[in-house]
Amino acid sequence: MALVSTLPRPAIVVHGGAGRWATDPDTRRRALEAVRKAAHHGLEILLRGGLALDAVVEAIKVLEDSEVLNAGIGSVLTIDGRIEMDAGLMDGCRGRGAGVGCVTYPKNPIVLAREVLERTDHVLLVGTAADRFAQSLGLEEHPGPLPQRIEKYRELLRSRNLGYWKKVLDVAKVMGLDIGGTVGAVALDLEGCIAAGASTGGVWLKLPGRIGDSAIVGAGFYADSRVGGVSATGLGETIVMNFVARRVVEKMLSGLGLLQACLEIVKEHTQRFGRGTLGFVALDVRGNYVAIHNTECMPFAYACRDKVVVSMEGLRIV
Ligand code: ASP
Repeated sequence: MALVSTLPRPAIVVHGGAGRWATDPDTRRRALEAVRKAAHHGLEILLRGGLALDAVVEAIKVLEDSEVLNAGIGSVLTIDGRIEMDAGLMDGCRGRGAGVGCVTYPKNPIVLAREVLERTDHVLLVGTAADRFAQSLGLEEHPGPLPQRIEKYRELLRSRNLGYWKKVLDVAKVMGLDIGGTVGAVALDLEGCIAAGASTGGVWLKLPGRIGDSAIVGAGFYADSRVGGVSATGLGETIVMNFVARRVVEKMLSGLGLLQACLEIVKEHTQRFGRGTLGFVALDVRGNYVAIHNTECMPFAYACRDKVVVSMEGLRIV
């Protein structure tokens, strides 16, 4: 019995983006269904003995394809009405991560990030060169923005003061209410390896060329199989400046428990940048999870062998 309880249990936690989520009930229901499906799919892979990294990629693919979330097919639009996506992932056993930024070609940017990790020594590949890499590998092509995203884009252009991109704290105040829908996952496999990843269309009306935290190892995602892994969401500029995912893991490496490490980072982040700027999911090496945010909501799902949790809200810090 004692042996069984000390073995790492396979587990996965996924999120569908921190934000206000003040949408219609059907959109919220679809978001919850997407995170539930992604966690379930990831857990199946883990229970079959699959790698944490495979579970992360496959779970994120489900979320990218869901249409309801701001990643892959459902990505939001830049100020000039186009899709530019970021994604990245890290293998906590090898201690290696990679990301792609500003890509437009692949339907599933997380798959391209995995290719960068496996086929190159680079940690970040961006723009048209990254798109060419995706094409050369024969990855599936993105079909273009959803009609409902184009409609929302037109509406935003009509109603917004576009000067707000000047200062990141102004962005937090204005966009903090609207961000949401980025996706991410952290998984622990039977061998005790942890992997983490993230994927996003970024923030609405971003300038072309803007890259957020979801492409950047240590900011939007980080994994270290000695202690745990993190996948973040929120206002990317603040997450990069605070190097959120890596710092949570560092706190755990220095001896703090999972919950304490997460609380300290979210509280500090909220003091520095204000509410409505951050959320993340995290797993430790025993398969315990935390879902935490300073936004109103963050749909997430956690699944291990004997437990499933699906909710619009985790631990909310105000
Ligand atoms: N973190 C993402 C970005 O800034 C957005 C989000 O999480 O909603 O690109």
